This record gives sequence, structure tokens and C-alpha cells, in this order.
Amino acid sequence: MIKVEKLSKKFGNNEVLHDISTEIAKGEVVSIIGPSGSGKSTFLRCMNMLETPTSGKILIENKDLTDSKTPIHKVRQQIGMVFQHFHLFPHLTVLENLTYAPMKAKGIKKPVAEEKARQLLKKVGLSEKEKAYPGSLSGGQKQRVAIARALAMEPELMLFDEPTSALDPEMVKEVLDVMKDLAKSGMTMVVVTHEMGFAREVADRILFLDHGVLLEEGQPAEFFTQPKTVRAKEFLDKIL
Ligand code: ADP
Ligand code: MG
Repeated sequence: MIKVEKLSKKFGNNEVLHDISTEIAKGEVVSIIGPSGSGKSTFLRCMNMLETPTSGKILIENKDLTDSKTPIHKVRQQIGMVFQHFHLFPHLTVLENLTYAPMKAKGIKKPVAEEKARQLLKKVGLSEKEKAYPGSLSGGQKQRVAIARALAMEPELMLFDEPTSALDPEMVKEVLDVMKDLAKSGMTMVVVTHEMGFAREVADRILFLDHGVLLEEGQPAEFFTQPKTVRAKEFLDKIL
């Protein structure tokens, strides 16, 4: 479904991603881990062209995002993104947060968008919050709304950038549980995370980034018990 070919990204002279190639299959859950500053967010942002690669290609369902003829806004509609800091619309209710983009970008009629939104709120356990404003919600609730909002666009692919890093510890599980359900439902997911439990249990594959280089790629059971590189071993020793 996704093919990354020799992707590089520079900010000025600073090469943040170096020659990354990988493929992600439909329904696969891939976790990206690595030290702070290793290029994880930049890699994720390249996948929906929030950042423009300096060189290399990214193909999503055979559409080359780096080709200027590809309609990026159309491709982006198929890609949901969830950030560390939620990015909800503060002046809209929870329900309106979910219906806004489907109505605006896809021309879905309000009653249809609302019905879909209510289904999704039920799925993330927040049916009773549809009239609430984001400001009145806990961090865990906000993040569940953000996930539901991304799903309201019926994406083919979901990108998560440290979705639980800004949460109080007691709220991490409710968000990870929603992500686990989503993974089980067959969604293709790329998840940057420091939650090694999640990566180990839910991911089909781990990508380990270090200084912008894809140093290791493998199944969680293998990566966590027998990392191939010294850098990965050092990283795991620090956090596990
Ligand atoms: P990670 O998510 O793994 O912590 P990032 O992708 O955020 O890493 O950042 C990788 C490197 O790229 C860092 O050195 C960071 O300072 C740099 N960087 C990220 N975004 C920008 C930007 N918009 N302009 C300049 N440098 C950036
Ligand atoms: Mg980051």
C-alpha cells in the first residue's frame, strides 16, 4: 500500500532523513521508534506531505506523492493523522469536530455526517460528550475525539505521532485501547510511540530510526529481544 524509496529530507544543511526505503502492506501496523531528534516526526509528516522530501519517492496505492501532478489534497483525505497535542477545533463541539471535515471537504450532508460521527463517538466511548467543547475534556478524552475525528474521513491509513506522550499516565491506556481496537479492525497504521508495550503487543513490525537512518526493521519479538545493532541495544537498555 505504501512504498518509500530512498527518501531523504534536509532542513538547510541538516540531513534529517537519509535514504530511507521501506514498504507497508494494507492492514499492517508499523511502529516507529528511536531517540528524540532521530527524524520520526519528519518521516511521518513526509508520508502525507506536511513536509516535502528533498529526494526520493513516496507511493501510496501507486500514487507518487512527490509527483507534482498528484492531487495532494485528495491523497491527504485518505490519510488520518493524530498528533501528540490533539489539535481539536476549540470553538466547535465534539460532534462538530467530527462532522466538519466530512461536510466541508467531501460534501457529506449534515444528518449523514452526524450519524457517522455518533457511531464513532460510541466506538471511542464518548457518546455522552457530543455536545461538550474540547476545553472541558480530559487529555485522554481529547485524544479519543481526535482519533474519532480522523476516522470520520474514512481514511485508508492512519498516522499517529506520539499520541500518548502528552497524557497523564492514567489516561494512556484508554487511548491505547482505542488504537488496539483499530488495529484489530484491519486499519493500516504507522505509529510513532514510546509505548514499548504497545509496540511489542500490537505492531506487526518495528522500524528503528537513529540520526535519520533506518537502522533496523523487524518483528517486535525479534527486535526487542535480539536487536541487531549496538545503537538499538543502547536505546532499549535506556528505556526498558
Ligand atoms: P523526532 O520526531 O524523532 O524527535 P524530528 O523529526 O522532530 O525528530 O526532528 C529531526 C530533526 O529535524 C531534529 O534535529 C529537528 O531539530 C529537525 N527539524 C524538524 N523539523 C524541522 C523544521 N521544520 N525546520 C528545521 N529543522 C527541523
Ligand atoms: Mg517527534
